[in-house]
Amino acid sequence: MAILNNWKIVLEVIILWYVIYMTLLFVKGTRSEQLLKGLLIIGLIFILSQQFGLDAITWVLTRLLPISVIALVIVFQPELRRGLAQLGRFGIREENANVVDEIAHAVNGLSAKRQGALIVIEREYGLKSYIESGTLLDAKVTNFLIVSIFMPQSPLHDGAVIIRSGRIAAAGCVLPLPEDEKQLPKPFGMRHRAAIGISEETDAVCVVVSEETGAISVSEGGKLTHDMSKDDLAKTLKNMLYNPIKRMPLGIRSRLVYEKRNRG
Ligand code: ATP
Ligand code: MG
Repeated sequence: MAILNNWKIVLEVIILWYVIYMTLLFVKGTRSEQLLKGLLIIGLIFILSQQFGLDAITWVLTRLLPISVIALVIVFQPELRRGLAQLGRFGIREENANVVDEIAHAVNGLSAKRQGALIVIEREYGLKSYIESGTLLDAKVTNFLIVSIFMPQSPLHDGAVIIRSGRIAAAGCVLPLPEDEKQLPKPFGMRHRAAIGISEETDAVCVVVSEETGAISVSEGGKLTHDMSKDDLAKTLKNMLYNPIKRMPLGIRSRLVYEKRNRG
C-alpha cells in the first residue's frame, strides 16, 4: 500500500512538472513568459504560506484568487486560443496552408527576378528577441507584401522577415550567425549563413533566395538544402510545418534532436 501511495506521488510530481515545463516552453520568448514566471512564484508563495501557517498572506492570496482567474483568462486570451488550436492542430494547419502558398508564390517571383530574400517561420521556439531586432509589422502573409518588402528600394529589404502564428511579425530582422563558420562552403555569404544560424539556434525553418543566382534554399536544424526547385519548395515547407511529429516534441527536445543530427 505504501509503495502504491509513493507511486501516486511520483506520478503526480511528474505530471505537474511536465505541465509546467510544457507551459513554459509554449510561452518561451513570448510576452507571457515573464507573467507566467511571476504567477509560478506567487503560487509557490501561496503553498509555502499555507504550509507554514502564514495566515495573513494566505488570506490575501485566497481573496485575490477569483479575480486573478478572470484577469488571467483576459490577459492570456490570445495564448489560450493558440494553445487550444495547437492541441486540435486543425487551426494551425489551416493557418499554415495559406501562409506556405503565399510564401512559395513570393519566393518563386523573387527568385525569377534575382532579388535576395530571407524568410524565417517560427515553430515552437519563440523568436521574440529576433522579431524585436527588426521593424514590427503584424501583417497578413501575402505574396505582394513579401515581394514589396524585399524590393531593393524598400527600406525593409535588408535582413529577415519573421513569420509567427501565420502573420508577418516583423521585417529587417537581424539573425544569429552559425557557431562553427568553418563548416560552411565558401560561396555562401552572410544571408545564407544567417539562415543556417537561426535554424541552428532555434527550431525555425528559413527560406533564402540568393540575390546572386536566384537559387532557393531552405534551412532546418542547422542544415541548408540548396538550390531547390519551385515545386520542391512548397512541398518541403508543407512537410516541415505540418508534420505533427516534428511539431509535437516542442522546443528543447526537437532542438536536441537537431543538434545531435548536426554534430553527429
Ligand atoms: P546572395 O546569394 O543573395 O548574395 P549571400 O549569402 O552571398 O547571399 P550576402 O551577399 O552577404 O549573402 O547578403 C547580404 C545580405 O544578407 C544583407 O544585405 C542582408 O540583407 C542579409 N544579411 C546578412 N547578414 C544578416 C543577418 N545576420 N541577419 C539577417 N540578414 C542578414
Ligand atoms: Mg552575396
